[in-house]
Amino acid sequence: MENEKRNLNMNSILIEIIMSNQCNKRCPYCDLNFYNQSFSRTSLDIFSDFLDKNRSKVKYFHINFFWWEPLLSFDDIVYIVEKQSHYQNKYSLWTNGLLLTKRHLDFFRKNSFHIFLSIDNITGFDKFDLLAWYEDIISINFINDPDHMENSKKIFELIDAHRFAKIHFMPVYSSKDWNTDSLRVLLEMKKYISSNTNNNIECFSYFNGVSVDTQFVLDTDLYFYKDIDSLLWLQKQYKRLPGFLREKIDRLSRSCKLTKDLSIDELLSTYDISTVMNLVTSIPKYINTHKQNLIINKILQYDQ
Ligand code: SF4
Repeated sequence: MENEKRNLNMNSILIEIIMSNQCNKRCPYCDLNFYNQSFSRTSLDIFSDFLDKNRSKVKYFHINFFWWEPLLSFDDIVYIVEKQSHYQNKYSLWTNGLLLTKRHLDFFRKNSFHIFLSIDNITGFDKFDLLAWYEDIISINFINDPDHMENSKKIFELIDAHRFAKIHFMPVYSSKDWNTDSLRVLLEMKKYISSNTNNNIECFSYFNGVSVDTQFVLDTDLYFYKDIDSLLWLQKQYKRLPGFLREKIDRLSRSCKLTKDLSIDELLSTYDISTVMNLVTSIPKYINTHKQNLIINKILQYDQ
């Protein structure tokens, strides 16, 4: 109850907006489905009006362009940001970086975006030169697939040779299984990272507790979904999740639809943190990854 009250009184709202259900990459650890659905300009106009109408009730909106590949919708991102140009929204964007150009990066710098660039231990990244003047606005999400841990050290060293704002070391949770060998290499990686003097490195556990923002995911179906660090919205995509659990998460996390008349009070009144917490902590038990997640979390807490 205390948590619920605290969140409803918070004055910044994180909205993660899914611009389309398309991606130009196919990662083996990704359980998303790909189909032709995206935000229309009309829906973006409604979203912009929603922000404007409710601006006085929050300190700021944090809008994160997330899921699938947002750069495929770059023109629509420019559209909404320019429509909002008189206001102080906070912006961020997650990308696999394959389409990234100087044009994108200049736009992001000009509009004070923070970029989360996902690099995995399978394909790595070969455009570091392009990032040279933008490293301060970029954090790297270094994704570690258990089936490719032999590449992790080499790719991590390439990333670490640059001055990125942050490096997030992220093991793949839930969509893949770890075995004794991959866990052993994960522990070696953690030891290696711990001996590193770069204090911009952070290891991501399965669940780090409640994030600072009240978070909603705004999906292409125009529904808002309440969440913490996108864990619910992400995990309901997992193929190993039983159907009844996927439906339960969808039903309990779905808030309300974005319409011309929606108010922020109406949206916030649906934000029930205890329901979100209960679901987030119960999912690994349902899909038998609880033990594995505990081991990974323990490895990531290891300090030399
Ligand atoms: S880049 Fe992201 S959305 Fe695209 S396939 Fe990989 S994990 Fe999935």
